[in-house]
Amino acid sequence: MSKLYSIGKIGRLELKNRLVMAPMGLGFCNVNEGLANERLTEFFRLRARGGVGLIDVGAMQIDPVRNTNYDMLKINDDSCILGLQYLTDAVHEEGTKIVGQLLHQGRYSSSKVYGGMEAVAPSAVPSRYTGETPRAMTFQEIQEMLSYYNAAAKRLVQAGFDGVDIGTNSGYLIGQFLSPLTNLRTDKYGGDLTGRMTFLLEVVAAVRNAAGSDFPVIVRIGGSDFMEGGNTNAEARQIAMALEKAGVDAISVTGGWHESSQPQITMDIPHGAYSYLGKRIKECVSIPVIMSNRMNISAAEKLIDEGAADFIAFARPFIADPELADKSAAGKYEDIRPCVGCNQGCLDAIMTHKAISCLVNGEAGRELELLRGNSLPTALKSDNPEKILIIGAGIGGMEYARVAALRGHSVTVWERDNKAGGQIEVSSAPPGRHDFAYLRDYLAGACDKLGVKFIFNKEAEKASVLNAVKKDGFDRVVIATGAEPITPKIPTEEDIHVVQAWDVLKKKVFVGKRVVVVGGGAVGIETAQYIAEMGTIGAEALRFLMLNKAEKPDELYHLLTHGTKEVTVVEMLRSIGQDIGISSRWGMINSLKKFGVKTMTSTKVVALKTDGVLVEREEGKQELIPADTVVLAIGSRSVNSLYQELEGEAVKISLIGDAVKPAKILDAIHGAYNEAVMI
Ligand code: SF4
Repeated sequence: MSKLYSIGKIGRLELKNRLVMAPMGLGFCNVNEGLANERLTEFFRLRARGGVGLIDVGAMQIDPVRNTNYDMLKINDDSCILGLQYLTDAVHEEGTKIVGQLLHQGRYSSSKVYGGMEAVAPSAVPSRYTGETPRAMTFQEIQEMLSYYNAAAKRLVQAGFDGVDIGTNSGYLIGQFLSPLTNLRTDKYGGDLTGRMTFLLEVVAAVRNAAGSDFPVIVRIGGSDFMEGGNTNAEARQIAMALEKAGVDAISVTGGWHESSQPQITMDIPHGAYSYLGKRIKECVSIPVIMSNRMNISAAEKLIDEGAADFIAFARPFIADPELADKSAAGKYEDIRPCVGCNQGCLDAIMTHKAISCLVNGEAGRELELLRGNSLPTALKSDNPEKILIIGAGIGGMEYARVAALRGHSVTVWERDNKAGGQIEVSSAPPGRHDFAYLRDYLAGACDKLGVKFIFNKEAEKASVLNAVKKDGFDRVVIATGAEPITPKIPTEEDIHVVQAWDVLKKKVFVGKRVVVVGGGAVGIETAQYIAEMGTIGAEALRFLMLNKAEKPDELYHLLTHGTKEVTVVEMLRSIGQDIGISSRWGMINSLKKFGVKTMTSTKVVALKTDGVLVEREEGKQELIPADTVVLAIGSRSVNSLYQELEGEAVKISLIGDAVKPAKILDAIHGAYNEAVMI
């Protein structure tokens, strides 16, 4: 068994395993209130029950003056203590330890969030994140800020927390003091790294002073800021050494700033890719190092067993599966509902001030609302077990089958293809989107274990369905027949090669050298990226060439980003990627640029000619984009004629997923879950 599941210590704190639930915004607090409530408590109670060793709750706002007016958890006033006591009690009852993260956003907060007050920071450096310029803190204000940390730490102790995490990462206030980009001060808080560390070390002292000399103190730092001219891993190592000297009990290492141009937690990042940041820090300190950022359980076990880290922190994987720790400790890896790194339900929600949910987990964030006594609906059997026939083994159909089977229904699934998954084959094919396939594998495996019967290569027609209802006694037919791509009515000459994006991604069709993708939504962008990467070198070849110094880095970069195709994306709207979440869109668009994909917005396709695509960019001004292949990515429409044909027949019918309305995978999962727990 991996050492990940062995007892670990942070200061005086003994943890039952080396898995930490990392701090993250959840958006569960009432706006303007920031108190720990039942929703938050039940969310964490279930994660504690799932076996995680330590929960780090945060971020908690410490500033009583710039009192944020949105849904961030607060510890800036004594009125916050009672709710937090309920929370720590709930987590302790499940045998898990809990620490609280103290944070101040500094220049990452805007006056809107502070109810009209300007943000403060070490120096008046404009923030790209908010579009505002903060006011430089006076010396007196810095002393006041230290007193806020002190008071917040006292409240943590009173609320029953087992330790404290001081958040310096991601470009928040303490990180702003540490960075030469945002700390231009000439007093003792600025200057070289030693000067810039002064505020951090005084915060540590203020917290220690409040909480006691043996109260476990963790400091979460960026392993590199990934900001041009900012702190790198070299500075992070020095900061970690100074923290050890200051008596800190553990260093928690994460990635770069929110302003960084390197993606930090999107799906395209290989699991554990940033783990070197923590490994290098661990080489310099003897206190425990907690490593995080785009981890999965196999990366976690490897890093712990190879001695590269002492603890591993996940945030999103615990949203996706509260029982992750117990399942992995028991070796039931295939039972873990995988976080696919999409950010659609979590980070995108937080960035737009909404409560989190989860693409793969219809229960996440709704625990309080769904709980029946001590159990979620999927742990309870239905009072009226039914025999159910599901038509379609896509993601919606499989989630319905899983939930219905868990609730004691007998489930059969007909699928016209020879495999389960439906559109997940399309979603997981583009570069960096492979994690979606893990969701298919999880659902298929879960259904299998629950005894769901799959019949593949089975076309469903009205007569065959009604025959099965009569013969096999199905009580309910669930139509999960998905959607199909739309073919637009564009004048088309005979010799041009026109294909659907879905067929390209399913490798059903070939594409020529000069390709125009019509439609700049998520599917169009991903397909363009997929085509642009054809002919580039792969990871293995890159490793070999680099290891043997066969080519210079510039040439390797060229080989990585220059394939054999010329790709242009044409979009009618003013910008591309409008249906992609805020946290992923910029990275995907940047990636197109790296691979030389041209984009044309506010551009209407007029005709598909033998030698290219005729477009109109301005009224009356037409131009031909030379192409030998046109890829259509302009959307899809529901396939649900079977539902209409079965309406009025003597059987219960349900319609779910894209068959109702084409939408995202998150909607398919949530819709299927909601329907299946009702029966
Ligand atoms: Fe993971 Fe996506 Fe769920 Fe967030 S929404 S926890 S990234 S699967």
